[in-house]
Amino acid sequence: MSPFIYQSNPSRVVFGPGKLDVLADEIARLGARRAFVLSTPEQSADAGRLVQRIGNLACGSFSGARMHTPVDVTLAAMAEVETSGADCLVAIGGGSTIGLGKAIALRTDLPQIAIPTTYAGSEATPIVGQTEHGIKTTQTTPRVLPEVIVYDVLLTTGLPVAISVVSGMNAIAHAVEGLYSEQANPIISLVAQEGIRALAGALPRIKSAPLDIAARSDALYGAWLCGTTLGAVGMALHHKLCHTLGGTFDLPHAQTHAVILPHALAYNAPYARDAIVRIEAALGRPGAAAALHDLAVTLGAPTSLRELGMPREGLARVVELTMAKPYWNPAPLDENRLRQMLERAWEGLPPAMD
Ligand code: NAD
Repeated sequence: MSPFIYQSNPSRVVFGPGKLDVLADEIARLGARRAFVLSTPEQSADAGRLVQRIGNLACGSFSGARMHTPVDVTLAAMAEVETSGADCLVAIGGGSTIGLGKAIALRTDLPQIAIPTTYAGSEATPIVGQTEHGIKTTQTTPRVLPEVIVYDVLLTTGLPVAISVVSGMNAIAHAVEGLYSEQANPIISLVAQEGIRALAGALPRIKSAPLDIAARSDALYGAWLCGTTLGAVGMALHHKLCHTLGGTFDLPHAQTHAVILPHALAYNAPYARDAIVRIEAALGRPGAAAALHDLAVTLGAPTSLRELGMPREGLARVVELTMAKPYWNPAPLDENRLRQMLERAWEGLPPAMD
């Protein structure tokens, strides 16, 4: 056993179909009486139903959450939170809505209840990303970790299949990088491997039967494990590339993860043998990077940066930005290898095998 440091993130998780029923109890358990509800515009009806459900425990709502947590949106929401006299936040939605809750908690220290409806995993991390003047920055602080997560699978059945599969691949990416992280440790490796297994098994079932509660439950369980991995250990090249592609070229978050993951894993594979063994065990076949590519194809997920609208001439800039401020990575960063890898990802070719 190699030396390691393990630190857990404190949070309470309530999981199961219909568990939204416990929301009022969970608010009370926090010692709160005035809950402020957050959502995106697309999920304002869900937020409205939630407000009705908790009755006079709700003190207001804001349905303007947007991807990448723009600071002007946070400030607009903050003004309403302050007027409402809220003593806790309830975020219902994907990473965008949960990100808004975190950005408000960062400024107010209000306790948060996160009710995730995608597989992005933000609810399980002490990380907040924020965008201002076109630049996205992230910070990690226990202040933004939601106190409670309520996973109600019934809220995920309406997530369109196309979004479900890329959101699931996004989650798998957290676990893959967690397995070869600089901070990898035995507990998180177990969590990550199980997260990959649960999601890789569930996503094809969701594709063929989107209302299958058992498949949706397995995916949500996997998403929690993958989010826990993201919240516990540092990420590497794959996340650096996706942040650069999303931040600089405005590519869609989860789709970009789905395209890059097999290529980033192939790049790192020779330097991450233990991770590869675990990923292959989780996927039930040899050839971890090829298996993830095949999974994306089976799921009908995007496999090329070209189809996401990435200009080919922008790839050089991605390499430059990645080399300029790299994340720790198991494989050394080599400009030529990176460029070749991104070319393959742009074309939609299978990952390169060394
Ligand atoms: P999202 O939250 O932007 O959701 C995408 C769209 O799907 C939105 O319109 C949303 O309202 C809708 N939607 C969500 N759930 C639905 C459901 N069940 N049914 C129907 N529609 C639904 O997408 P995301 O991929 O979950 O989150 C992406 C954002 O989260 C990015 O900004 C990313 O940076 C951030 N993120 C942060 C962390 C972290 O740890 N801080 C982790 C992962 C992602």
